[in-house]
Amino acid sequence: MSNSIIHTAEILCIGTELLLGDIVNTNAAYLSQKLASLGIGVYRQSVVGDNPERLKVALKEALSRADLVITSGGLGPTYDDLTKETVAEHFGRSMHMDEAVLGEIERYFTNRYGDVCRMTPNNRKQALVPDGAIVLKNPNGTAPGIAIEGEGGKTVILLPGPPREFEPMVDDQVLPYLARRRGEVFFSRNIHIMGMGESAIENELKELMQTSVNPTVAPYAKDGECRLRITARAADSESAAAMCDAVVERIYQSAVGEHIYGVDVEKIEKALVTALTEKGLTISCAESCTGGLIAKRITDVGGASAVFLGGVVTYTNQMKECLLGVEHEVLERYTAVSEPVAAEMAEGVRTRLGTDIGISTTGYAGPGGGDGENPVGTVYVGVSTAAGTKVTRFSFSGMRSREYVRTLAAGRALLLALREIR
Ligand code: ATP
Repeated sequence: MSNSIIHTAEILCIGTELLLGDIVNTNAAYLSQKLASLGIGVYRQSVVGDNPERLKVALKEALSRADLVITSGGLGPTYDDLTKETVAEHFGRSMHMDEAVLGEIERYFTNRYGDVCRMTPNNRKQALVPDGAIVLKNPNGTAPGIAIEGEGGKTVILLPGPPREFEPMVDDQVLPYLARRRGEVFFSRNIHIMGMGESAIENELKELMQTSVNPTVAPYAKDGECRLRITARAADSESAAAMCDAVVERIYQSAVGEHIYGVDVEKIEKALVTALTEKGLTISCAESCTGGLIAKRITDVGGASAVFLGGVVTYTNQMKECLLGVEHEVLERYTAVSEPVAAEMAEGVRTRLGTDIGISTTGYAGPGGGDGENPVGTVYVGVSTAAGTKVTRFSFSGMRSREYVRTLAAGRALLLALREIR
């Protein structure tokens, strides 16, 4: 790797859709902010269509001015995706088939579709790498990124266009590469939060998020959860970790702190399985509105069999009575979506399956159902242990869809079980 320092950069986006105004150039905005955080000056952004001649000219001009040019787009498998070929030609490099990259692309197709048959011969073109180039992994797509270092350290980094591939690659590949060029390392911690929305978090941590340059604090929201990624750069990983940990501590001390369920734990179900394993406890679940989602998420975690004994989906009142021993009178008196029924379901599954913890869900996921007292989006979650049973009522009304209510309900049930263990 070249050890010449990069001071200036230009961003060159490729895509006729951008020129036509069909899409907004969010990649350039995203990248500019990230490069600024590294202290690299971005003096120009340009856009060219899918045209190799104009790309060639734009690239040459950009490289005459800046130490680094980062491109986005035109790495796809089709005939008009010519960025890589054009850049290789600029540096006078031939291309070779990179077997490791080809293996990654095959794995991508196998993981996604269960076979490699959907891979077209064109996808093989995406495994061609210019000689002497550095490959940057793309876990969310088939086209890897590529960094080519030319004379005097002048560098071009090629990235794919789709933002869901582009943005993680900037964070996980490009920034660490640029830091390495400066003799620095990157280190990140992920704070996992549930029960507080992204905008509320941003509001609470506004000052920290806006003013933090090193470490940076970036939020990512998904499936009713939020993750804060703290990233520091320093001369070695110990120093960078210590810088991240200071920010983590500060966030723990804020109003966000009580909603944090873990740091670097990947997912709530993973945190739960880990906690159960550490304490030598077992769990079971009785699900109504979540229809097996909790069992699915727990069993998604490798090693779950040591702690998860089983689960039942009791959708009708009859099944709640038969399989869990929920009393007929309780169902009649309070209806299935109620605190007493959630409690009896959690207790029933715990005692009948002989686990330390039993969790239950009953609610109205919509679009139909619900009443004045318990409208659509109401979910009761029960958590039962030998010490007693607690039920929490959630109101996810106003949430977008049936699927979303179910996702949130399953997440909260996993969270309550985790809290109970802790
Ligand atoms: P693919 O492998 O999907 O073909 P690619 O690297 O060839 O990827 P393009 O074909 O240029 O990328 O773009 C794919 C999609 O990514 C576009 O249709 C657009 O939705 C999005 N995209 C491309 N460039 C940008 C950009 N600069 N900002 C935001 N979105 C973009």
